[in-house]
Amino acid sequence: MRALTWQGEGNVRIDDVPDPEIEEPTDAIIDITATAICGSDLHLYDGYMPSMQEGDVLGHEPMGEVIEVGDEVETLEEGDRVVVPFTISCGSCWFCENGLYSLCDTSNPNAEMAQEAMGHSPAALFGYSHMLGGVAGGQAEQLRVPYADVGPVKVDSDLPDEQVLFLSDIFPTGYMGAENADITEGDTVAIWGCGPVGQFAIQSAQMLGADRVVAIDRVPERLDMAREHGEAETIDYEDEDVYDRLMDMTSGRGPDGCIDAVGSEAHGLHGISDEADRPYVLQQAVRCCRKGGTLSMPGVYIDTMDDFPIGPLMNKALTVKTGQTHVQRYLDPLLERIENGDIDPSFVITHEEPLENGPDLYQTFRDKEDDCIKVVLTP
Ligand code: NAD
Ligand code: ZN
Repeated sequence: MRALTWQGEGNVRIDDVPDPEIEEPTDAIIDITATAICGSDLHLYDGYMPSMQEGDVLGHEPMGEVIEVGDEVETLEEGDRVVVPFTISCGSCWFCENGLYSLCDTSNPNAEMAQEAMGHSPAALFGYSHMLGGVAGGQAEQLRVPYADVGPVKVDSDLPDEQVLFLSDIFPTGYMGAENADITEGDTVAIWGCGPVGQFAIQSAQMLGADRVVAIDRVPERLDMAREHGEAETIDYEDEDVYDRLMDMTSGRGPDGCIDAVGSEAHGLHGISDEADRPYVLQQAVRCCRKGGTLSMPGVYIDTMDDFPIGPLMNKALTVKTGQTHVQRYLDPLLERIENGDIDPSFVITHEEPLENGPDLYQTFRDKEDDCIKVVLTP
C-alpha cells in the first residue's frame, strides 16, 4: 500500500510499504478514506520527538471502512464505517476503567523504552514514535487498529467524512481542553493558539457556557476563523500586549480560565529560528489568569522546561489540568453534538488533497503558507 513515511527531520515521503495484517485477535484492519495532519505531527516532522525511525508511517487522525476483524473483535464487522481515536487503549486496565484512556497501562508494547526515556509509560499512540508503541500510523491506505473494540466509533449516519473525522483527535482535544478549564456560566476564557486545537477549544468553551472567549495568535486567517466561526474576541500578540488587553477586558481581574493550545511550538523547540523569541505562553497564562483560576494545557510538551512560573502559580492558587486527550470518553457525546447540528467540524479544513500530496502539505501546514489551517488527505 501507499503510506506517508518519516525519513528524518523535515523529510517525509510517500512510499510503498507492506499492507497491515491482523496480529492479535483483538485487531481490525481499516481501509482509510480520510486522514488528517495534526499539529502534533509537526513535533515529529521537526525532529523533536525521540525514538523515530526512518520509514515509520505517520498519522493519528484517520477514519475509514473495516475490511477485516480478528477472532475476538465483538463490536465491529466488515463494512462498518469508523473513526479511529489517536489513543490506543486496552479498555480493561485500572486507567481505562477510570476513563483515563490516554494513560492506558497495557497498550504500549514498548513500555520499557518509555519508562526509561520519560520515567512513565502512557498509552500507545498511532504513528507517534517507538517509545509510544511503534504502531504504524494512519496517513496510509490501510491501518491496523489494536484493541478494536475499545477505540473506533461507528458512524451509521451519512454525514460526510469531513464532519466526523476530527472525532479522532482535535475535536475531543479542544473539548477536553475547555472542560479542563473548569468553565462555569458567565466565565471569561482566554485561549492561546488558534490552530485546529485552539479552534475547537474556542467552540467548546462556548458550548460549555463561557460568556466571553478571547483567542490569541498572530496568524491573521486563524484569528479571522476564531472570530467568524467561534464568535471569539481576538488578540494579535504581535500587535498588542496580551496581559494589558486581558486585564482591560476583565476589569483587572484576569480570565477565569486560560487554555494553552500552543504547546512547545511557542518556545522555539521546533527548531525554526524565528520562533525562538515568541512569548512564553505558560508564563503569560499564569500571569494573566485570575487568582484562583484554572490553567488548562492541551498543548503538547515533550521534555523538561525551565522558567516555569511555579511561585506565581502557587501563590495565585491556580489549578493546572493537562494531558493527552482521553478520546474514547468523548466519542459518543461529541458525535451526538455533530449529528444534532450543534457543530459542523469541517469549518476548520482549508486543504483536502490526495495522500500523494502529503509531503508538500506537511510543509505548507508547518509554515502556515497558503492560509493553511487544517489538512485532510484522501488515500
Ligand atoms: P498548530 O501548530 O497548527 O497551532 C498552534 C498555533 O499556536 C498556531 O496558530 C501558532 O501561530 C500559535 N502560536 C504560536 N506561538 C504562540 C504564542 N506565543 N501565543 C499565541 N499563539 C501562538 O497546532 P494544533 O494542531 O492546533 O495543535 C496545537 C497543540 O495541541 C500542539 O502542541 C499539539 O501537539 C497539541 N495537541 C495536543 C493533543 C492532546 O491530546 N493534548 C492532541 C492534539 C494536539
Ligand atoms: Zn493529532
